[in-house]
Amino acid sequence: METKVIDVDPLNIEEEKIKEAAQAIKEDKTVVFPTETVYGLGANGLSENAVRKIFEAKGRPYDNPLILHVSNVRSFLEYTYISYALLEKIERLLPGPITFVLKKREVVPDIVTAGKDTLAIRMPAHPVALKLIEYAEVPIAAPSANISGKPSPTMSEHVLKDMLGKVDYIIIGGKVEFGVESTIIDLTQGKIPIILRPGPIPPEKLKEIFGDIIIPDFVYGKIEPDYIKSPGMKYRHYAPNTPVILVEHDDANTMVKKVLEEVKSYNNPLVLCLKEHVGYYKDHNINFDTIGSESNYYEFAVKLFEMLRKYDEKVDAMIIEGIEDKGIGIAVMNRLRKAAYHIL
Ligand code: AMP
Ligand code: MG
Repeated sequence: METKVIDVDPLNIEEEKIKEAAQAIKEDKTVVFPTETVYGLGANGLSENAVRKIFEAKGRPYDNPLILHVSNVRSFLEYTYISYALLEKIERLLPGPITFVLKKREVVPDIVTAGKDTLAIRMPAHPVALKLIEYAEVPIAAPSANISGKPSPTMSEHVLKDMLGKVDYIIIGGKVEFGVESTIIDLTQGKIPIILRPGPIPPEKLKEIFGDIIIPDFVYGKIEPDYIKSPGMKYRHYAPNTPVILVEHDDANTMVKKVLEEVKSYNNPLVLCLKEHVGYYKDHNINFDTIGSESNYYEFAVKLFEMLRKYDEKVDAMIIEGIEDKGIGIAVMNRLRKAAYHIL
């Protein structure tokens, strides 16, 4: 399949380029586009024929539902059953890196929700994504634009590598802002929202808006969910081909010791460490790179998938220092624990 690649400057968007891609959406074609979280692989979310092409391009199992992307608040009323009181609350988070699971309306085809009666819906904050949806005049169903199971794409090279020849259009719009997928919360189980996937919007922020919030243990990525509420979670995710070894410890000295011990088991390992720990490794003749700092977990999040892809198949193990389950750090550790082959 021939893929047309369009370059767009998100700070100075040429409308004609977006209109061309939006026309493709109207014709049931597939379009990769940037969002503030990761790149998405989109198609007309009201067309079964179009949505099927997403699953085919990614090699995604059909029982793993997609997120419906919309460009305005009104769309929540069109595609889900939601009270005005609840809509008022979620409006405070729109547009933004958060997805809401709500009861779905009939117009949304079953293929989007994998046959469930609930729909995951989100209004992204990226100007290119918003314009694309607006001009397409339909909601856009979109998962992350990676081959199923691989790390999500956060840079143009990633989408070109995974999706060239598999989709009709790729819109290149620079590097993403957050680098981890949206927070997902379930609003269908009683009055208290349940976090299904941690993301850029941390629990503290949700507590401000909803008062209370349930954080099941599986959100930390340490155990499989006992009931598969978020179906995507039953598959191994975010995993490069090279094994990832995650090292967790709240004491820096102990963590570094574990890393140095683990390094000995491989011929060509790479250590991905915090900036603050460079001093520990640089005298050991060890191949290392930094992945953010203790003082800025956002930087860690935005570099995470970039690093997993950069060193994939270049080394024989990636030994990664973990961070605290705090703020966006919860999302980072959730992805790392799912990508990990071993956790030490
Ligand atoms: P992706 O956009 O690739 O991160 O995948 C979307 C994810 O959203 C899926 O893997 C599910 O975990 C989640 N999701 C989508 N629809 C639902 C739903 N109806 N209920 C719960 N989780 C959902
Ligand atoms: Mg994904």
